[in-house]
Amino acid sequence: MDDTTALKQQLVDCIRMLEAADIIDYNGHASLRLDDSHLLINAGNCQRSRLTVDDICTIDMNGQVIGAASGKPPLEFHLHAGIYRARPDAKACVHAHPKWSTYLTMTGHVYLPVYAQGSLLYPVPVLDSPNSINNRDMADRLAATLGDRPGALMKSHGAVTVGKTLVEAFVLANYMEENAHRQYMAMQIGKPYAFDEQELALCREKLWSEALFQRAWDHFHAKLPGRP
Ligand SMILES: [Zn+2]
Repeated sequence: MDDTTALKQQLVDCIRMLEAADIIDYNGHASLRLDDSHLLINAGNCQRSRLTVDDICTIDMNGQVIGAASGKPPLEFHLHAGIYRARPDAKACVHAHPKWSTYLTMTGHVYLPVYAQGSLLYPVPVLDSPNSINNRDMADRLAATLGDRPGALMKSHGAVTVGKTLVEAFVLANYMEENAHRQYMAMQIGKPYAFDEQELALCREKLWSEALFQRAWDHFHAKLPGRP
């Protein structure tokens, strides 16, 4: 397997794990930056639960497919291009329309750090528009909202996470949605406890770790059918 095929396979596994975790459905996409002007991304109309490397396309920052066509990129490829333009540190990006975190933005509830791993994303900026990120203006607006944060929510639309690796972007997407789920459920029976500044600092110190991100990836990866 050459280097690009190995990266495509990692992206395939990432998207299949996000689908199995109910974070991605028939929409949603993840990308890996190859260099300053190219990225790998799943085709817009692919079957996410049965993804293969043939469903991954290489595109430039304008959405032009490079090399043999593997379908067309999603209309929201702009989201990825916009973040890579604005964030040289970002090497991978996940965008989905997950339920629990979107319930919060639908109703104006602020994402609270109620769960240790989920606190790594706090505070989470919110894009104040439900519109699709299908043009450069919206992409720039989202990148400005994200700023230097690891993740953002998009009002009544979805979530985005970035990472210096695909493992990081994937795991942060899981942490964010799990935190939102716990917050939502806790709000049904009372007022959830939000971590204080000291507790947040301790979580960042102990939990922002490549080894722990890898452990979370491995947990989901072990459940993928057909993967060693
Ligand atoms: Zn979207």
